Amino acid sequence: MKKILVANRGEIALRVMRTARQMGIQTVAVYSEADREAPHVRFADEAVFLGPAPSSESYLKGNEIIAAAKRLDVDGIHPGYGFLSENADFARAVTASGITFIGPGPESIEIMGSKLAAKDAVKQYDIPMVPGIDEAVTDPEVAKSIANQIGYPILIKASAGGGGKGMRIVEQPEELEEQMARAISEAQSAFGDGSVFVEKYIASPRHIEIQVLADSNGHTLYLFERECSIQRRHQKVVEEAPSAVLTPEVRKAMGEAAVKVAKACDYLGAGTVEFLIDKDLNFYFLEMNTRLQVEHPVTELITGVDLVEEQIKIARGEALEIQQEDLKINGHALELRVYAEDPANNFLPSVGKLERYLPPTGEGIRLDDGYTEGMDIPIYYDPMIAKLITYGKNRAEAIQRMLIAIENYTIEGVATTLPFGTFVLEHDAFLSGQFDTQFVKQHFDPKQMQNGTEDEQEVAAQFGVYLYEQHLNHLQVPGEADSQWLTNRR
Ligand code: ADP
Ligand code: ADP
Ligand code: MG
Repeated sequence: MKKILVANRGEIALRVMRTARQMGIQTVAVYSEADREAPHVRFADEAVFLGPAPSSESYLKGNEIIAAAKRLDVDGIHPGYGFLSENADFARAVTASGITFIGPGPESIEIMGSKLAAKDAVKQYDIPMVPGIDEAVTDPEVAKSIANQIGYPILIKASAGGGGKGMRIVEQPEELEEQMARAISEAQSAFGDGSVFVEKYIASPRHIEIQVLADSNGHTLYLFERECSIQRRHQKVVEEAPSAVLTPEVRKAMGEAAVKVAKACDYLGAGTVEFLIDKDLNFYFLEMNTRLQVEHPVTELITGVDLVEEQIKIARGEALEIQQEDLKINGHALELRVYAEDPANNFLPSVGKLERYLPPTGEGIRLDDGYTEGMDIPIYYDPMIAKLITYGKNRAEAIQRMLIAIENYTIEGVATTLPFGTFVLEHDAFLSGQFDTQFVKQHFDPKQMQNGTEDEQEVAAQFGVYLYEQHLNHLQVPGEADSQWLTNRR
């Protein structure tokens, strides 16, 4: 593979291109009207303009992206996450045009893209599943009788759902009909597929997922877990690896279950199998995401494996060099998704201009971002500005480094989830490891968030000293760490 086009934008486009470049592969960016000045466009060796800002007129134009790739002699297309990454037709069209799709085959995408087809495929492998039904329902009476069997509360879910969208909790029978109608119409408008099904709503579960890698020889590995329970709107904000609660036995059982799920759909490349876990550490299969996941860096830091490099090698037909026994968890990593959202105002998007943007640097800090000072956060896409990732020899050190990194991260012009990150990382429930997906609902009080005005000067002074010490100790220039950015974990 000599030239890769990344059919995406923002931090993930940059992240993929960095690894490609390190592997000696040329990179091609695509961009919309809103992203003319974006770092991913400047970083790439070549860039192709796609069209106006809305995704449907730019980043979702699969055929135009493929045509551009042909024109530029591209031999691999990496889809990142979101956009076309889980679009089986796109994967098929890429392959049909003679270009390698860096991801699984279209059949795997199709099966796992439908939560119902996924349940069906893994059924025979003895994987524990959340109680519920494994087919679409349209008749509220049928849904009611299922709900009576499994007990309320139940969750109505869109089979084609993603990104936390298309889910409705039903507490009692009287609400069922109305909520179901809403779920169907939501699913129809968001995913073009109104199929919904019913699952038991698990009270206070944790969301723990397993990273897998599979090569074309059928060799499949698990790269341990990521704890993703800190969520708002059923979508992750803080992730970590390893989880503070898994035992080696449960970790192994989940890892092996994830490998079976991957085999059930003949998986190829990097994928993630998501589970819910209850208080007794029983785990239940939720879904599989057939792409690189947003929070993949925490796994890279604790395993030392560059997942994008593995994706590219697997796509080139190479066999995995790693064996399961070689993989060890080394230290602890945390990720905070820095969204342009106002945590004090129900996490509503807060788009606008990055008036000031000063990212943190230092030991154990990795920042995957896609913006620079002066840029606008467009309203057209996911409002994630960056992923702030820290590594430590243990959980306490990773947390400490994250707190320092957050304080050293200056973003002005938009509200962000940075102060929410501090709230979480200083909270007893998080520190003790005893938390679940209800964390925000149970514990989050926006009034307790540091607003940064009172102690600002003292804090600034402390960081000045901290940065100076860092400088003396390591004499590390930010750009210089480039070749080590991925596993920069000391
Ligand atoms: P992950 O599952 O990788 O942890 P998210 O659930 O936040 O992360 O989804 C990753 C990105 O993909 C987000 O930008 C989200 O909006 C988008 N996304 C996920 N699934 C879908 C989908 N089915 N349709 C549209 N966008 C999606
Ligand atoms: P998506 O495709 O949107 O990522 P998931 O099935 O992965 O959908 O669910 C996203 C989140 O919703 C989970 O991390 C969890 O917090 C919550 N959730 C999903 N199913 C259930 C359930 N049956 N009971 C309780 N919470 C659930
Ligand atoms: Mg999910």
